[in-house]
Amino acid sequence: SSTSQQEFDYLFKLLLIGDSGVGKSTLLLSFTSDAFEELSPTIGVDFKVKHVTLGGKKLKLAIWDTAGQERFRTLTSSYYRGAQGIIMVYDVTRRDTFTNLSDIWAKEIDLYSTNQDCVKMLVGNKVDKESERVVSKKEGIDFAREYGCLFIECSAKTRVNVEQCFEELVLKILETPSLLAEGSSGVKKNIFKQNPPQDGASTSSCCSW
Ligand code: GDP
Repeated sequence: SSTSQQEFDYLFKLLLIGDSGVGKSTLLLSFTSDAFEELSPTIGVDFKVKHVTLGGKKLKLAIWDTAGQERFRTLTSSYYRGAQGIIMVYDVTRRDTFTNLSDIWAKEIDLYSTNQDCVKMLVGNKVDKESERVVSKKEGIDFAREYGCLFIECSAKTRVNVEQCFEELVLKILETPSLLAEGSSGVKKNIFKQNPPQDGASTSSCCSW
């Protein structure tokens, strides 16, 4: 396909983590479904690719989903290896999915993440179910401050703040020199030059807290 050979300045590996059912797959589809998709072979984890232009750079985003493996706690170091960005998702209507981020997921990130400066984004999903909300926005903000994450609340269903979530994360990665260094794991520069770039430019709005 022509898309797989598009020119790009950086390739970023982004991860989705969090409990089963919080909306990781829906979030990924919501962000990528209007674009051409390259499907990975079905070897446990699954990822989708999206080309975007942000911060004046042409980017190829490979966004990895757990494909349900989080249920068995079998995510391994290879899932985390070389990631420039990690999206930590909880469901604002289920408190256990929020507490598990600090009790389980944050520890796993510390254990396996190979890029010390890896950018983390805390995402409270399903804000369309406002009447069922049990985790307040302030709790999300406090968690993000404590763990040094970006923070956004979104709805993968209605697509509110979905683009912003990925854009904020990517812009922060672009501001982190160690994640852009030539030879930094996962980053390849200008590999494909055969085809003109597709204009997927979009602007970013600021994180909402
Ligand atoms: P995963 O296990 O984390 O990948 O979660 P899924 O993406 O499979 O979503 C689990 C369930 O939550 C599915 O029934 C989705 O349709 C639903 N869901 C995902 N995101 C949202 C959202 O933003 N709002 C609502 N109301 N439902 C959602």
